[in-house]
Amino acid sequence: MAPELALAAAARIDADRAAGKPLPALAGVPLAVKDNMMLTGTRTTCASRMLENYESVYTATCVQRMLDAGCLPVGKANMDEFAFGSSTESSAFHRTNNPWDLERVPGGSSGGSAAAVAAGEVTLALGSDTGGSIRQPAALCGVVGMKPTYGAVSRYGVVAFGSSLDQVGPFGRSVADVALAMNALTGPGRDPRDSTSQDCPVDFLEHLEDGVAGRRVGIVPALMDAEGLTPEVRAAVTAAAKSLEAQGAELVEVELPNLDAAIAAYYVLGPCEAFSNLARFDGVRYGYQEPGCASLAEQSSLSRAHGFGAEAKRRQMLGAWLLSSGVYEKYYLAAQKARTLITRDYAAAYEKADVILMPASPRTAFKFGEMSDPTQMYLADLYTISINIAGNGGVSVPLGLGADSGLPVSAQLVGPAFKDRDLLTFARAVE
Ligand code: GLN
Repeated sequence: MAPELALAAAARIDADRAAGKPLPALAGVPLAVKDNMMLTGTRTTCASRMLENYESVYTATCVQRMLDAGCLPVGKANMDEFAFGSSTESSAFHRTNNPWDLERVPGGSSGGSAAAVAAGEVTLALGSDTGGSIRQPAALCGVVGMKPTYGAVSRYGVVAFGSSLDQVGPFGRSVADVALAMNALTGPGRDPRDSTSQDCPVDFLEHLEDGVAGRRVGIVPALMDAEGLTPEVRAAVTAAAKSLEAQGAELVEVELPNLDAAIAAYYVLGPCEAFSNLARFDGVRYGYQEPGCASLAEQSSLSRAHGFGAEAKRRQMLGAWLLSSGVYEKYYLAAQKARTLITRDYAAAYEKADVILMPASPRTAFKFGEMSDPTQMYLADLYTISINIAGNGGVSVPLGLGADSGLPVSAQLVGPAFKDRDLLTFARAVE
């Protein structure tokens, strides 16, 4: 991205200061923006050949609000193509290294945003999270990453993946930085341009230091014992639970009985929504257009064949099949039913606990190419996906370096819908 945008924003802040105007809360703070968010004056590529030369035609509400709060937009951040993935390896253009070990992935799909914050290139970054794409890369890069409750942050101007699951949120190096970003993102109130956006009238800094005495922290025994959870992550999350207890919180066991269905349900619902959203890339209206075609049908089919990478094709083919007659009833309807059951499980758990503490990722950052089987990668989404399915908020908080790998490990705090401020109070206590 050209530096002009950041320089112009900095010049405006200088002019305001010279004129004696009060400066906004994030004046001069460098910001990275995931490349699925529109920002006038930049391309929005979604890390896809399909949108390689696509110029943003307006600015997304989430980005505009960060700019209004004074942030300097220093770059668009790399990602998995159209946000499909957990490693940023499916980007059509760049490899993003994990700053802690350059041979390892930063996580994904918002891997560029997480890595930019971890490397100190920016202070804040925006990501989007459909099934973990903020919380998992935050965990693998050792930064704080928050997926707010669905509807808390506007999706206007963010290229859609799964519209009922997508949510924008911030990355920062501390919980307080993330609270400041949340104030900027939600402060002006609901966005009339996104019909699912809701008012979120809280000051995220207000109760940050309140502590957790007398609060109830839910632990799901099955999740602490899940296949694939590495001993170092389990040990770190268990230590975080003990620390919350030592600070006066009460640990309570809660069950999420239908969680077994979460990954399967997500990998039905996500591809179905993606198939429908990505139908707009037809080789005519947006993006890559195959030259020299004899018919419109050929143009559409070849543009899609050459514009999309392997994972984007896999998801769309899966979605197309899942929504076809005879198949739809068996899988899509079943997944919607599982969604209701999982949402009810969380509601029941929040009768007993104010938040739930769990890992964000079952393991620390993996090597490039290590998860070459897509199913293996999908299964690693165990701790993040059900939160998008239920629509509530989650925040991933770094807990230092793992005893075995020496790489960042994190815990995740998950809370009831629109209790996102509360989540940050707990996050602050384990930080
Ligand atoms: N890893 C999940 C997927 O591949 C989540 C992606 C996301 O949240 N955008 O779909």
